[in-house]
Amino acid sequence: MNQWEFMDKEYIWHPFTQMKGWNENKQLVIDHGEGVKLYDVEGNAYYDGISSLWVNIHGHRRREIDEAVKKQLDKIAHTTLLGLINKPSAELAKKLVEVTPKGLNKVFYSDDGSTAVEAAVKIAFQYWQHKGLPEKQQFINLGDSYHGDTVGAVSVGNIDVFHKVYKPLLFNTKKMTCPSFYHSSIEGINSEIEFRDFLLQELEDYLKENSDKVAAMIIEPLVQAAAGMLMQPKGYIKGVRELTEKYNVLLIIDEVATGFGRTGKLFACENEGICPDMMCLSKGITAGYMALGATMVTDEIYNTFLGEAAEYKTFYHGHSYTGNPLACAAGVAGLELFEKDDVIENLPPKMAVIAEHIQKMNTMKYVGNARQCGMLAGIELMHDKNLKIPFDSTLLMAGGICQTARKYGLIVRNIGDVIIFMPPLVSTVQQIEEMLSILEQAMQEVFEKVDLHSNI
Ligand code: PMP
Repeated sequence: MNQWEFMDKEYIWHPFTQMKGWNENKQLVIDHGEGVKLYDVEGNAYYDGISSLWVNIHGHRRREIDEAVKKQLDKIAHTTLLGLINKPSAELAKKLVEVTPKGLNKVFYSDDGSTAVEAAVKIAFQYWQHKGLPEKQQFINLGDSYHGDTVGAVSVGNIDVFHKVYKPLLFNTKKMTCPSFYHSSIEGINSEIEFRDFLLQELEDYLKENSDKVAAMIIEPLVQAAAGMLMQPKGYIKGVRELTEKYNVLLIIDEVATGFGRTGKLFACENEGICPDMMCLSKGITAGYMALGATMVTDEIYNTFLGEAAEYKTFYHGHSYTGNPLACAAGVAGLELFEKDDVIENLPPKMAVIAEHIQKMNTMKYVGNARQCGMLAGIELMHDKNLKIPFDSTLLMAGGICQTARKYGLIVRNIGDVIIFMPPLVSTVQQIEEMLSILEQAMQEVFEKVDLHSNI
């Protein structure tokens, strides 16, 4: 064991990690990155097939972003947004307003995806008090939704394996059916369109009776990523936007995972031409360089917070690092790269290669459902794909495949028995081809072992 692995195991408690297993197994120590690759301290190269937790959209060590951060470092690393302005945060805010759907005109900065959601929840709650409707306090969320790990974000989240243990600590929400057709089992519903109509009817039935107590609905658009890349039916978020508008309920769209090009458009909302009342951003916002979150709001919301101090209209919320200049400088440089390199315009052939492989994977014996949305994919394993019988979870099938892929130079992660693939947006067609071929090889290898020991 090298000294870093030793120190890590001695001193660090890793996120989302059962530390017993971590400490018992050999772990990789990353030394540096370059483009779409990571290099460990032993000099081995790995494709970064998850953009380092879905953030490094422009790859690693992008010269333009490195330089922007260094330039800012020569000026100042941090100064507070409480009572002061800094140049990069102002520049980034202007850019964010320009690139997000029309109508989102103000940016509230925070530190990460969870705190961007936390701010949105509190803004929605306070907004209705300003509007003279303080009884509108409830939040509607989706089954199997994930919005982060702070207590408010967990309250509006809904993934049992992560959240069940905290239930007594959380505020109640109204949960709607998880909008994944593959995982649904509603009698009489046989197509994705019927399923979408069912979901929207369910929402309308609830809002008809209860909208006077609902503050906001929060959804991840198109894909519920952390639940295992669950895909929503086409037209679903458009329908949700229409209903939330009709029943006077705020719509918070959490684009933490989907934002900044991941779904093939700069923001997932654009796929269905909608504008929410609030949009939560993080991850790709600094191209993976530094922690930063942003909650975008409409003028309608922002304006209700204007008034005298004594009126209690101030949004009393913020963090020490809110609007950090280094992070914002990285954000500005990252957004400039989208324009300079035509990142979005160059995605279609890359998405097509992913689609080809997804199609192929769907023919594999133990792949229940491989699915894709733009530059992200989830490959869900099943022991019996026809009967949708999962593997015994203690076999850690997808985890085993991810470990095997490392042997061949690809880093991917799993969520339960779903393998997640989210390469940097700047990966070339050939690099994506290589990454997915490695993944298929690893899948094949593990599947052959299953066949050999068919008693497992
Ligand atoms: N919302 C969504 C949709 C996410 O996918 C995530 C993180 N995976 C978060 C919020 C939380 O972001 P963070 O981990 O930066 O707090």
